[in-house]
Amino acid sequence: GKGAAMVTAVAYRLAEHSREIAQTLSEFRLTTKQLLDVKKKMRTEIQNGLSKSTQDSATVKMLPTFVKSTPDGSEHGDFLALDLGGTNFRVLLVKIRSGKKRTVEMHNKIYAIPLEVMQGTGEELFDHIVQCISDFLDYMGMKNARLPLGFTFSFPCRQTSLDAGFLVTWTKGFKATDCEGEDVVGLLREAIKRREEFELDVVAIVNDTVGTMMTCAYEEPTCEIGLIAGTGSNACYMEEMRNIEMIEGDEGQMCVNMEWGAFGDNGCLDDIRTEYDRAVDDLSLNPGKQRYEKMCSGMYLGEIVRNILIDMTKRGFLFRGQISETLKTRGIFETKFLSQIESDRLALLQVRSILQHLGLDSTCDDSIIVKEVCGAVSHRAGQICGAGMAAVVDKIRENRGLDHLDITVGVDGTLYKLHPHFSGVMIQTVKELAPQCNVNFLLSEDGSGKGAALITAVGCRLRQESNN
Ligand code: BGC
Ligand code: MG
Repeated sequence: GKGAAMVTAVAYRLAEHSREIAQTLSEFRLTTKQLLDVKKKMRTEIQNGLSKSTQDSATVKMLPTFVKSTPDGSEHGDFLALDLGGTNFRVLLVKIRSGKKRTVEMHNKIYAIPLEVMQGTGEELFDHIVQCISDFLDYMGMKNARLPLGFTFSFPCRQTSLDAGFLVTWTKGFKATDCEGEDVVGLLREAIKRREEFELDVVAIVNDTVGTMMTCAYEEPTCEIGLIAGTGSNACYMEEMRNIEMIEGDEGQMCVNMEWGAFGDNGCLDDIRTEYDRAVDDLSLNPGKQRYEKMCSGMYLGEIVRNILIDMTKRGFLFRGQISETLKTRGIFETKFLSQIESDRLALLQVRSILQHLGLDSTCDDSIIVKEVCGAVSHRAGQICGAGMAAVVDKIRENRGLDHLDITVGVDGTLYKLHPHFSGVMIQTVKELAPQCNVNFLLSEDGSGKGAALITAVGCRLRQESNN
């Protein structure tokens, strides 16, 4: 009768919906062939960044860091470290002891950087940073110590020495004026002077990837790569001097900050970018920039998810077709929520309660779809991050003329640490795409702070040597 016909119609519509949902999400499942292509393109961009003739227009900038060796255990002393550009801004005191019993003792305090400071003037930003240092020194009772300081500054910088770095461009959530093109160490020193309260000796500016590599290498000498999969995405590794055409000299190695987040800014990844990636990019603080990062880092995965959910709601597959104000809000899906939603231990009822907490009223069917969407987006993130890493390890292997390479990657970042599946997918992808390399991933606990101190220690030693 009529009832049966209606049931059939509803069933048909639901089947049609799930077919269309599957279709939409299938774009996020990259095949091995597509991933090999990403790897190959990354390799090309690495070469462009290293070569003098192509470096100017290169998207992956391959920035020299002036770090020429990993730690040897002789580093020691008391250092201050700043960590700016990740999830939190921190000031740290790091005490490194060498000798028979090596120890690293750390004290740190987290400070908020209000949005209006992140996106205000450069002077306000650096005054705020120095204000936080002042508070920290009071807290530790060390106002008069004049300690050497390492500045972990997690943005692309063109370095001319260990203690000079010119900001190429802001990334992630930062957009303070009058900083791009400036020497960030200079900006910090000026702000310290303006305050006329204490003196500090800024010895090194350090990318977080480099700090992470150094921290890991302190325990594990086979670590020659640093990876951050957090708010942003980036990697560094020990490259042969002879391949770094921008730096004089052919002997030995230097760590190169790849700035791989900008991979794809020349359009080379357009074949795998979806309409949702384009929407996220268009709405971001830096449209057209950091396209790879926008596909695989914590600050953007939630935004991709949100854009898919909006589209699916418009098409009537979700939330009864009603786009709520919450769903229109940028940044609602932080990494920690995505990680919770995808946790295997979580029942759907709990997924619904997380959504409820975010202000999204969901049915059971809705929660299933939301979980699938999150899964598709984070899976692709792991895949393409792995494809990038596969390019790096194969490059190092070929540098050394080896058929087989054993190497360790020091990793940090909220996405790597909190997400239940990202790291597994990434590691599996590296295995598949770089079968001649045996890559060991090691979590580098608090790499940014400890690493900055280790590099500062080396910087102080080199300075003394050149004074003698
Ligand atoms: C920055 C890199 C940084 C990465 C991870 C990117 O946005 O450009 O310098 O290493 O984020 O924090
Ligand atoms: Mg050279």
